Amino acid sequence: MAAVTKENVLMITSSIAAIQKLRTGVSKTFSHLNQGITASKDEGEAKKGFVKQFQEDLVGVKNSFDELETSIASLQPLKEAANMGNLGQISLDPVLDKTPIYPQVLQTYKWSTKLREHAQAADSILNRQAPKRTYGHISVLSKKRKTPPSSHTYNPVHVDKFFDTWQKNYTSVEVKRVQQSPNVFQVTLGRTLQVVLVLQSFIIERVIVRAHHEVILQVDGTLDLWTQSKYAVFRKITDHATSAMLNFHFMTMPELSVKSFMLWLNSYLRLFTMPCKKCGRILKGNMPPTWRDFVTLSALHESCRQ
Ligand SMILES: [Zn+2]
Repeated sequence: MAAVTKENVLMITSSIAAIQKLRTGVSKTFSHLNQGITASKDEGEAKKGFVKQFQEDLVGVKNSFDELETSIASLQPLKEAANMGNLGQISLDPVLDKTPIYPQVLQTYKWSTKLREHAQAADSILNRQAPKRTYGHISVLSKKRKTPPSSHTYNPVHVDKFFDTWQKNYTSVEVKRVQQSPNVFQVTLGRTLQVVLVLQSFIIERVIVRAHHEVILQVDGTLDLWTQSKYAVFRKITDHATSAMLNFHFMTMPELSVKSFMLWLNSYLRLFTMPCKKCGRILKGNMPPTWRDFVTLSALHESCRQ
């Protein structure tokens, strides 16, 4: 067996030898008791000879027993067997030819231990390199990291309530569910742009930014979730919105994800009137500042971000 160390093999061999010696000694003792020994003709001498022989036999038995005890005490217990609890007991009487269950269990146990060690190492590496979130979210996120995801428990009514409140607070934003699909929302920012949001409860699954006047239905009346805007500026904002969607994704606080995303999106209301924070211009390469910083919401041209 692979788990048995080299020292253990040597000790087991010497223990077996000690057992054989002990058995021989005990058999010899009983044989002398049973059949007697070749005695001298003198009756007194014969008695003495027998007692002496019996004493020698007993001393031999005792020595063999001591030897066996020392060998057994030096055997190293199997680590795996000790950690396996009751399963380790299978090894005490293994019939390996008929039931190879013990070696299989041992192998599985080793793999599972190795897997756990690798998973712990991966977890610590991933935690060290966790992507940075918006200010103020980091401490909350680390405290709540162990909380299981609960986004699936939200009722659609919660989502509607959330957007109702949002529209009251931000009057230039209009949000409505699209009739063709209950999971799709049309968000209109003033007369600047419109966003098609695909939501699974409070998890944003897809974002497409289009011009205010572009349609969201195909010719046959079905919902168009894939065609990009024909304007380069909105295609660029779609790319940024997709990265914002990933940046603001908080596994344990889905409502906060949508809230942060909507706040960020709201900063596009002045897309064509807000100058770039770096160069101070509105148009550069025929494009307005299409980027909005995730933290400060500053407007920047794509080329002014570096
Ligand atoms: Zn600029």
